[in-house]
Amino acid sequence: MSNVTNSYCVRNDCYIEGTRLEGVKYLIVHSPSVYPAVIRAVNGSNNWFKRWNKPGVEKLVHGFIDDTGVYNFAPYSLACWQIGTTWGNRNCIGYELCELDSAAEFQKVWKNAVNHYAELCRTYGLTPDKIVGHYEAHEKGFASDHDDPAPYFRRFGKTMDDFRSDVQKKLSGGEDSDPVSGDVTVVKTYEPWAHGQVTNLKAGDTLNVRTGPGAEYPKLAAWPELAEGNEVDVLDKYSNGWVKINIQGAKGYVNSYYLLITERQSSNGQNGYTVWVGKASGLGSSRLNVRTGPGTSYGLLEAWPKLGEGNEVEVTGENGGWYQIRIENKYTGWVSKDYIKKA
Ligand SMILES: [Zn+2]
Repeated sequence: MSNVTNSYCVRNDCYIEGTRLEGVKYLIVHSPSVYPAVIRAVNGSNNWFKRWNKPGVEKLVHGFIDDTGVYNFAPYSLACWQIGTTWGNRNCIGYELCELDSAAEFQKVWKNAVNHYAELCRTYGLTPDKIVGHYEAHEKGFASDHDDPAPYFRRFGKTMDDFRSDVQKKLSGGEDSDPVSGDVTVVKTYEPWAHGQVTNLKAGDTLNVRTGPGAEYPKLAAWPELAEGNEVDVLDKYSNGWVKINIQGAKGYVNSYYLLITERQSSNGQNGYTVWVGKASGLGSSRLNVRTGPGTSYGLLEAWPKLGEGNEVEVTGENGGWYQIRIENKYTGWVSKDYIKKA
């Protein structure tokens, strides 16, 4: 059982208006995107309940989830102002996952959320594919254009697919989810290797290199830490977002959130290719997937997963129906040729 406390925002305008939910078609996952400010649901002097239980907030969700439990800010029967469209607000239940800083806190938030969304699936007869992040609801056409909770999950090597998969495990009678030491498998082997550069560290922080793919493994004695900007070879990627790396002969593991990974260029196409400037075109309001390789079987480029209409890129190569592109002179990915025109 997840630990649920009712703490209704009775002074919030949405609560006072009191429009009722019409049905529960989707369960929405949000995160407030105010990193690095650490704010919990109801605990601490600065908390979300204080921030939202007053007039003029203009938004409300069914609750907040943090490392201490689940806090319902509104009854499930209320249509919360959470997703920017009338249909979405009247047909979805949604929570904000508090963006706490450490991996240990994230694990608790994740576990509390997985358990609670599994209960909601049971209660409303929904399958986990009806659990969507705010950004996915936007892609489906019933939400405002926000990217939460993807950036928060990415910091810990997680995706919405991982979340749905853990909810499914919970529903199948599995044990409580453990985001780090579950069944971690290799999901990608870089051939012959990719190059990684340490990035995303907070000032003064170092990146721990561990003896296995997860924060529970001890540090690698031969090379325990990396600093911002250090370069390594990347060998394999694991299902939990960790990667195996090679640091001048020492093999270790790091969370890929902290690596900017550039794949070694394939031998065909790029040699002698004349770089030109292109722009994303013909997309309308949808966005163009940027992938790690030339094909839809490759995953989205973590550092820059989508392009919008009119975004300019350098085209640095091609392979079949795909262009290799460089974004902001920094990130290399692949996009379908159909949506790139000369700028
Ligand atoms: Zn949101």
